[in-house]
Amino acid sequence: MVDAKTTPRVGLKSFPQTLPLQDHEVVLTFDDGPAATTPKVLEALANECVLATFFLVGKPASSQAALVRRIVAEGHTVGHHTYTHKHLNQLSYQDALAEIDRGIAADEKALHGEATDVPSTPFFRFPYFESTPALLDDLQKRGIVVFGADLWASDWLPMTPEQELKLITDRLKVTGRGIILFHDPHHHTANMMPAFLKWLRENNYRVVHVVPANPEPTVAGTPTVVQ
Ligand SMILES: [Zn+2]
Repeated sequence: MVDAKTTPRVGLKSFPQTLPLQDHEVVLTFDDGPAATTPKVLEALANECVLATFFLVGKPASSQAALVRRIVAEGHTVGHHTYTHKHLNQLSYQDALAEIDRGIAADEKALHGEATDVPSTPFFRFPYFESTPALLDDLQKRGIVVFGADLWASDWLPMTPEQELKLITDRLKVTGRGIILFHDPHHHTANMMPAFLKWLRENNYRVVHVVPANPEPTVAGTPTVVQ
């Protein structure tokens, strides 16, 4: 169990601490959806019976509410990733906060039909990992856990699924564990996912699903690591 009060931020890319994973344990996270390729990722995850966290962008979530609800219906966790994926460190504090809250509201409206800036799952990731101290303070006060990442597939670059598979498995062999960042809107990532999940299974990795300990909106986020 991870307490938001002591570890409000996780992911070694940006922060000094991460989730307390064991060797050969990974957390799968997907940013920037929902997108046309998201169903392909969902099918790959379902075929291997593993669960992930999707950090959604509010604007596409607004127009694809059925897909957002499908993500949750299939057991995955929905975190938040702003409304239009701006560089928050280049906005005023108020504008950045508005972009965060509009994203949360759009995701919540897609999920539950009601726009609220109190997230039902208090997980957030900054676009481009560009946090600011003031925004981190605000999120911490609201009990919203900020996710960075421990490793990533660099899948924002053009590459084939085969290249991406080699890159992420080579990196994972070095770290042995961690929060992995993917982007489900990219075709090469969606196309690679079945082979990657098979590789995890065949190499004795366990996919850990991270959920808030108490999903009640008014309670500070306390993510629990569950199988
Ligand atoms: Zn992003």
